[in-house]
Amino acid sequence: MKKIAFFDAKPYDKPSFEAYGKRYGFDFTFFEAKLNEDTVSLTQGFDGVCVFVNDTVNAAVIERLYGYGIRVVALRCAGFNQVDLAAADGRITVLRVPAYSPYAVAEHAMAMLLTSIRRIHKAYIRTRDFNFSLNGMTGFDLHGKTVGVIGTGRIGRVFIDICRGFGMNVIAYDKYPADDPSIRYVTLDELFAASDIISLHCPLTEETYHLIDRNTLSKLKKGVVIVNTSRGALVDADALLDGIKERKIGAACLDVYEEESEWFFSDYSGHIVADDVLARLISMPNVIVTSHQAFLTEEALDNIAETTVGNLRAFFDGDVLQNEVRLHAAGV
Ligand code: NAD
Repeated sequence: MKKIAFFDAKPYDKPSFEAYGKRYGFDFTFFEAKLNEDTVSLTQGFDGVCVFVNDTVNAAVIERLYGYGIRVVALRCAGFNQVDLAAADGRITVLRVPAYSPYAVAEHAMAMLLTSIRRIHKAYIRTRDFNFSLNGMTGFDLHGKTVGVIGTGRIGRVFIDICRGFGMNVIAYDKYPADDPSIRYVTLDELFAASDIISLHCPLTEETYHLIDRNTLSKLKKGVVIVNTSRGALVDADALLDGIKERKIGAACLDVYEEESEWFFSDYSGHIVADDVLARLISMPNVIVTSHQAFLTEEALDNIAETTVGNLRAFFDGDVLQNEVRLHAAGV
């Protein structure tokens, strides 16, 4: 039985991974700690490592893993920006789960958008306190609004379909546009200028880092709603906060945050949160933050475990690796 060190483990991870592990001969040890330079020594004696979005797989960690004889890192997520692929190249095989439920993330993006613009987050709190006043609750129709979708891959395209169902005018930008005449592609600047809502569905790469920054903000429509369910660092959080204070940004729906690895997935209620930008964003009435929750559906968890275990099986059996992440593929 192959021994796999599973980092950043949460209670909701265990049932599906234990079930698939048992079925296919993998013994998962669940560590609550994130993988980083301080915790990498825990992997000694294991055959492989399984990590999530906020684990650190940088050059120093890869060096140590390699030294311990580990030759495979299985990401149980789609994004791979947390891995130094150059350092891993030719030494450690990196596998990922390219798709597990694009519906989970796209539906969450729409859930956040609707919550925000119809003030559901406010209504929930008000009516629990028997406050049935509607003052300050005016929203706007999505029907007829222009939504700019950046990244038209699996999730972006599901989101486009959902928006079409609402009667929205969809425009899109993708560095590698899909061969789909039904999608109206525009330049990034055209998208910035025309969109009432912008939803980000592209990966985090050197090119997309701070895609929304101070410079971009100046190009946006006043009152624009920004939805980010992709990766935090696509948006310069300081610039976003200033844009909200200046009332340029009408609302922000954030499932991801630039510095989320410090905070997300853990309970800090009762603690002093030292991140002033995050605390200020959360204090805003027109900002909704969920803690990287978009993927979290039963269907997605099952698919993640099945694909991750399938990836590990293929690696240890010497089969073709369908879901390997290679250096030359980074940014694609
Ligand atoms: P995908 O690979 O199917 O699609 C990504 C799209 O982005 C592709 O069409 C690609 O051409 C495009 N793209 C690449 N570089 C670009 C650039 N510079 N500018 C514009 N577009 C560019 O990926 P997906 O499955 O749709 O996932 C999209 C992103 O969602 C992932 O990268 C990941 O960061 C994020 N994600 C978040 C969660 C969550 O729980 N919040 C879950 C899964 C994925």
